[in-house]
Amino acid sequence: MPTPTQIVTSHRPDLAPYETLYQHFHAHPELSNQESETAATISSHLAALSPAFTIHPHIGGHGLAAVLSNGSSSSSGPTVLLRADMDALPVEEATGLPYASRRRMRDAEGNEKPVMHACGHDVHVTALLAAAELLVRVRGEWSGTVVLCFQPAEERGTGAQAMVDGGLYERVGGLPDVVLGGHVMPNRAGTISLRKNLMASSADSLHITLHGRGSHASQPHRSIDPVVMAASAVTRLQTIVSREVAPDDLAVVTVGSIVGGDAENVIPGSAVMKVDTRAINASTRERVLKSVERIVRAECEASGALKEPEFRKTREFPLMFNDEKIVETLTGAFAEHFQELPHHFARDGPRLGGSEDFAILGTSINRPCCFWVYGGTDPEVWDKLEKEGKLDELPINHSPLFAPVLQPTLKVAVDAYALGALTYLVKQSDFL
Ligand SMILES: [Zn+2]
Ligand SMILES: [Zn+2]
Repeated sequence: MPTPTQIVTSHRPDLAPYETLYQHFHAHPELSNQESETAATISSHLAALSPAFTIHPHIGGHGLAAVLSNGSSSSSGPTVLLRADMDALPVEEATGLPYASRRRMRDAEGNEKPVMHACGHDVHVTALLAAAELLVRVRGEWSGTVVLCFQPAEERGTGAQAMVDGGLYERVGGLPDVVLGGHVMPNRAGTISLRKNLMASSADSLHITLHGRGSHASQPHRSIDPVVMAASAVTRLQTIVSREVAPDDLAVVTVGSIVGGDAENVIPGSAVMKVDTRAINASTRERVLKSVERIVRAECEASGALKEPEFRKTREFPLMFNDEKIVETLTGAFAEHFQELPHHFARDGPRLGGSEDFAILGTSINRPCCFWVYGGTDPEVWDKLEKEGKLDELPINHSPLFAPVLQPTLKVAVDAYALGALTYLVKQSDFL
């Protein structure tokens, strides 16, 4: 009986056509909730691969699930969900790659934006399609069900919940036993890692409107200046992390945007701040958000604002925890397959840099989940910068320069999906 790693190694499809497909996705990114072309390409690719995939489109927007069952009934083995997110970001690509995106699209507010796969979701989609080809080729070696889940709107934090609310699990005919996913990161390409428990921080984003009173720039005494109010609030907000969060805890408060006024000689009537917060435990998360509100209200009060500030939550991502048992199970398979050299598989790897809505696919149905990360930085570039102590200069996810090197990034991504599934599905598996 071949092991999952033997199956993956001997049946991995030729990745050259998938490199071309990756370049296609990269050149044609779509903003969150507008992933129609991407979903259509995925659907036609799967349909061309094999009639064995049952494709369920339009789940929670442009979400798509494809089911590959094996065995006489659904009780013949476990069900594994593999997730890839599909959306891109309003970022103007500056990589200079021959397949760089030049696309522009209208965002949800109707504003035209440049669009780029700056988070590497094109790697995820391509890798899951290649893994699907591998899994359908080796159907004789496993039993159970694979659910390929192509999720929209991860960057807005809404896509996973939208798919669940849109009937994902009713459409695919049942709940998965395990929910698996991964993300490309700016780590050294060829590396992959798992970790137990906390995998990603929570994230909460707010739009805050500060109300003042406008005036002529020469007559500041007639105004209540919202620009000064915002400037003062930004400075004071820095004290949440430095003075209110314990040194062994962790939180982030970032003011990513302040917009107030349009001209040198006009004091505007209001200003808008866009604030993003992160935390690694639920109580700190709540405390940080309360502190943001308390400080902003106090600064408005201090300025003599005539109207209370308005707070609008624009995004939220849950804390993400990896199930210990899945991590233990996959650690065995990953360690064997990827080898445990300094630059291959790490058991206790880093947390995800950002936040993710992936866990909702599991927590919403009380099923365990696990998320791994793998590198996308050219090993030569990584080694050079590491030697020079300049790793902080690497372009990371969401940068206009984020450009994962095609290989070995894609191979690791494909193998991880296939291995994740086969570890549970190869016959006589007793992991569950
Ligand atoms: Zn992202
Ligand atoms: Zn991402």
